[in-house]
Amino acid sequence: MRVYNFCAGPAMLPPAVMKKAQQEFINWQNLGVSVMEISHRSAPFLELARECEASLRRLMNISDEFEVLFMHGGGRGHFAAVPLNLHQDDAPGVYIENGIWSCGATKEGQKFTQVEAIDIRRDQDGVFDVLPVSQWALPDNAAYIHYCPNETIDGIELFDVPKHPTAPIVADMSSNILSREMNVDDFDLIYAGAQKNIGPSGLSIAIVRKTLLERKGLPRPAILDYAIEAQQQSMYNTPPTFAWYLAAEVFKYLESIGGVKAMEAHNKEKAALLYDYIDSSSFYLNKVAKHCRSLMNVPFWLHDESLNEQFLAQAQEHGLIALEGHRFVGGMRASIYNAMPIEGIKALIAFMEKFAQENS
Ligand SMILES: *Cc1c(COP(=O)(O)O)cnc(C)c1O
Repeated sequence: MRVYNFCAGPAMLPPAVMKKAQQEFINWQNLGVSVMEISHRSAPFLELARECEASLRRLMNISDEFEVLFMHGGGRGHFAAVPLNLHQDDAPGVYIENGIWSCGATKEGQKFTQVEAIDIRRDQDGVFDVLPVSQWALPDNAAYIHYCPNETIDGIELFDVPKHPTAPIVADMSSNILSREMNVDDFDLIYAGAQKNIGPSGLSIAIVRKTLLERKGLPRPAILDYAIEAQQQSMYNTPPTFAWYLAAEVFKYLESIGGVKAMEAHNKEKAALLYDYIDSSSFYLNKVAKHCRSLMNVPFWLHDESLNEQFLAQAQEHGLIALEGHRFVGGMRASIYNAMPIEGIKALIAFMEKFAQENS
């Protein structure tokens, strides 16, 4: 039985990439050793790093105005790095709140800088909704605008990008990077933990507009300093080399199947299939307003929550694993990142329908 893994992160990786990694696990590029056993400063690894960055630049169409950094510390590392690097004495960091992760970023930011939080949630009658970007009341004076375009736990995605005349736009794309076409030029700093759409945990990526690196910010650990990481080609200290290697393989694979454009079409088809099924069912429910439903994370609830455990146990027997919702919101959640094939969605829907019929 094929197992489909709906885990929110660390998430499934493309099987083709896993197979290739297995084949070259103990003998990479005929060196007689694994990629994880060689120096990050050796010529073969430097070539891997160069090609990895070039591949990501092609995939996301990243211009020379930006540095691409490969770092440690996951998404949360950047929750701290953003205020530390971008702080200004006379302007607050503005944090848009639309779910659990963006609120986490606010909380971390408050440790280091003056913060102005703007809650855009407008929940009504049990529907989770957010104000559209055009209606956000952004202050004139801001050191930066931080927001989270895909709230992994809440299943809320923002498809428009905010604009500000002076403040840089910072986006936590941990759970939707590379999932659909985005214009990097609309942003000033994009960051993401790798373990959802890029590779294994341990690696994070930051795409930083070069002019931002001139900010003085606050005293900070060197490993969270974007300017130092840029100067040192992301090798100020020993990077997570194996995770970097796997990320490079995922990028190569993505390019081979038609890049982000093809991925976006695939992801939209997957999400539409699942949301349409949930909406058509009187047994299941998705509570997110349609204009802001995530393409990556689909939370859903059984109307009869007493069946939750039975649902999860039987799903597992059908090879459909990690469907339990986050403990903060309950219910179920299907994370359907880039690597989830459409067959996984079809298998999930078939099981959901069977379960509904047996329990209605
Ligand atoms: C998973 C996630 C994080 C946290 O990432 P870590 O690597 O665990 O620190 C932050 N933001 C978003 C949107 C996420 O999905």
